[in-house]
This record gives sequence, C-alpha cells and structure tokens, in this order.
Amino acid sequence: MGFNSGLGMERSYYVATANPFASAPPLQGEIEADVVVIGGGYTGLHAALNAADKGFSVILLEAGKIGWGASGRNGGQMIPGWRKSAGELIGRYGKAKAKLLFDLSLEALQLTRERIGKHAIQCDLHLNGHLTMAAKPGDLGWMRTEAETLAAAMDYPHARVLSADEARAKVAADGFHGALLDEKGGHAHPLNYALGLAEAARGAGVQLCEHSRVLRLETKQGVVAHTESGAVRARYGVLACDALLDGLEPRIAGRIMPVANYLVATAPLPNAHEIIADHLAVSDSRFVVNYFRMSEDGRLVFGGGERYSPAPPADIEAFVRKHVLQIFPHMRHAKIEYAWGGLVSISMSRLPHIGRLGDLFFAHGYSGQGVLLPALAGKVLVEAMAGTAERFDVLAGLAPPEFPGGAALRTPLYVLGMLWYALRDRL
Ligand SMILES: Cc1cc2nc3c(=O)[nH]c(=O)nc-3n(C[C@H](O)[C@H](O)[C@H](O)COP(=O)(O)OP(=O)(O)OC[C@H]3O[C@@H](n4cnc5c(N)ncnc54)[C@H](O)[C@@H]3O)c2cc1C
Repeated sequence: MGFNSGLGMERSYYVATANPFASAPPLQGEIEADVVVIGGGYTGLHAALNAADKGFSVILLEAGKIGWGASGRNGGQMIPGWRKSAGELIGRYGKAKAKLLFDLSLEALQLTRERIGKHAIQCDLHLNGHLTMAAKPGDLGWMRTEAETLAAAMDYPHARVLSADEARAKVAADGFHGALLDEKGGHAHPLNYALGLAEAARGAGVQLCEHSRVLRLETKQGVVAHTESGAVRARYGVLACDALLDGLEPRIAGRIMPVANYLVATAPLPNAHEIIADHLAVSDSRFVVNYFRMSEDGRLVFGGGERYSPAPPADIEAFVRKHVLQIFPHMRHAKIEYAWGGLVSISMSRLPHIGRLGDLFFAHGYSGQGVLLPALAGKVLVEAMAGTAERFDVLAGLAPPEFPGGAALRTPLYVLGMLWYALRDRL
C-alpha cells in the first residue's frame, strides 16, 4: 500500500488494464536540478515534459505511484472549456477575456492530442463528442443559449442541442429531455494516458522518483524539497498535488477542497454500441453529476454520487449501482466487476487555482474538469519559469477565493452546501 493507493485503486478497471510501466526508484540523497516537480499526475507530468523540452534538468517526486492520484482513477471524460459555461465566463469577465479563456481551453485539448500523438500513447482515445444529458425539461433552455453563445461569442460552432428522441438514439437511457452535444469532446483511458506521459517524460530525461513523498518544502530562495531519504535543491519548484496536497503548503491549501467520487465498470456488455453510440462521452446536468462512457472492451464505466461525509461508503459498488440503475434501469442484471473511488479537488468558483509563491509554481483545483486542462497549466507554468508570464498572468487572474473557514472548516460548511444542492436536484 502506498501514499495514493486508497479507495480501492488496486481493484480499479484502470489498474487491471494498465500498460506495462517500470516502477521508478525512490529519491536517495541530495540532488540538484533546475526544476523539482512534486506530484506525478497530469499536472506534474505535463510541467516536467515542458520543462525538459525547454532544456531544464528536471526531477519529479511522487509520494506513491505515478498516475495513481486523480489522474489514474477518473471518468476519462475530455470536456472542452472550463467548469463554467460560456455565458458565465462572459458574465464574469466580459466578452474579450471570456473568449481568450475559452481559446486557452481549446489549446488544452490541442496540447493533449499533440502529446498523445507525438509520444504514441496507447490510451483508447476517442474524440467523437461529449453529451450533457438534460435531466430536467428546463435544461434545454440554457443548453440552447449556451450553443448560441459558443457559436456567436466564442466562434465555436461545434455545440448543438439534441431533442429527446435524438438524445435517446445516442444513449439508451431513461428520463432525459434532450442533450447538448459538443462535437470536440471525447474520452480516454485515464491511467494509460498518465503512464504514457510518464514514459515520455522519462524519454525526455526527466528523473522520476516514486515512493518519494515530500515532507517539507523550503521556498526562501529557489526550492528545496525534502523526502524521508533525500532532498532536491532546485531553482524552481512545481507543486502538483491537487486533492492530495494535505498540509504540505498551508498558504494555498484553503483554496481547494478534496471531495470523494466513485466509479464502477460493468462486465463487457454484448450490445455496448446500442447503449452509447459513436463512443461518445456522456454526463448529465445534475448538480451531483453522473458521467459514463463505454470502455474499449465494451464495459459501461460509470461515475456518480458524491458523498457528503469524508468516510468512503462501506460498499462502493452498491453505492454507485443505485445511480447506474436510475439511468439504465434495464441493467439490473449487469455484473459490476470493478468499483473504486478517488479524491477530486474543487474550488469555490469551480475555476482552477494557478499561481506562484516565489519560485514555487502550482496548479490545482480543476473542479472535476482536469483531464484536459493540466496540459495547458503545465505549459503555462513553464513559460512563466522561462520568463514569459503573459498567459500565466491570465490564468493566475482566475484565482478562486478561499473556502470559508479555510482548510480547517471548509469540509463541514461544504457538506451543508452540497446537501442543499443535492436536495434541489431531487425536487
Ligand atoms: C473519481 C474522479 C473522477 C473524475 N472524472 C473526471 C472526468 O471525467 N473528466 C475530467 O476532466 N476530470 C475528472 N476528474 C478530475 C481529474 O482527474 C483531476 O482534475 C486531474 O487528474 C488532476 O491531476 P493532477 O495531476 O493535478 O492531480 P493528481 O492526478 O491527483 O496527482 C497528484 C499527485 O501528487 C502526489 N502527491 C501528493 N502529495 C505529495 C507529496 N507530499 N509529495 C509527492 N507527491 C505528492 C499524489 O500522490 C498524486 O499522485 C475526476 C477526478 C476524480 C477523483
């Protein structure tokens, strides 16, 4: 058992189907590097790859196994944009900045595709579209407005609304009133994507260290990262621990909150393409969102049902199954073969927290939309390190506020808020 091995990760579908990856030895002794990256998920790996591309020497310290944080456990849904609608971005930032932000999110998609292509990462990538299913009749109104806003203000003609019948032809699910289709979205095998990035980083000369938990950071001049068996002294640091940050950097911990989320994978289904057509990625419009897709071998991979207590459910399979049957009642007899969970980090505004504390750069808090955006964050952090901070400043300007009560009180207050929204979903 390692630092990031909890919540059934060993029993996940992703570990069962992971590509071979030679484990990396822990850090031993004191080493110098240009950049020390802390955390081996998408954010840390993209930052490491970009830093190596710029000619920096890079050491990446991972507390547990590479890719075993949120990056190797998630729904694999690749959703263009931010966890805010185009309309909300315009309302908050005005048209010009909202367009700039939206374009940056499209760059994240492009960078992700490029990395997967350039390094020939075998991760079952499908980019045939992402559907947001309308759980309430009233959702169709905002979906139409969103498609129009995307076309008119973001120059993005790739989103359109499907009627209830059209949506049903794509997803054999009950109770939806239509859907918003984004033709540029998709999905991938999240752990194999992370492991592929790690292999690419290794190939680019990044020294990977697993089972090397950073226990203490010095940030007065440059960054020194101390583990149990050594230390890295670097000109710059990248803190990429997301929901697992814990107490390592109290100055930023209160901007994000870890929330557990759970998934299952069924046995391969004989009629997979009749359940979800075209290899689409699907989620619904509920506040406590359900998200699902078919895996390469025809399993339904389904996530849903946040819990409002830090303790995991005694039986993850039973907990998620309820949500599966709500949407696919005809799957009563489908066998669930894998069940696991992970910690997702959310921010107050649902926009990520990206910035720097002296020579220590960080990006976290993607709020459930962190499969694509880390490619952008990793690139922009390294641009700033190399002296070009224009785009970094745009992203740093998104900084979400602290949770009320900071790191100590955020959980009980959040639980109350979530209960209210979950209740609203049901009414
Ligand atoms: C269940 C679940 C479902 C999700 N579904 C989706 C989805 O479908 N689509 C989507 O876009 N997003 C989704 N997300 C969000 C997405 O997975 C995350 O935003 C993204 O993976 C964050 O990547 P990261 O590299 O920043 O963090 P992580 O992948 O969590 O990596 C952080 C790493 O830091 C390491 N670490 C922590 N502390 C230390 C330390 N002190 N020293 C060294 N290393 C340390 C951890 O071990 C971990 O490996 C989901 C998340 C979860 C949990």
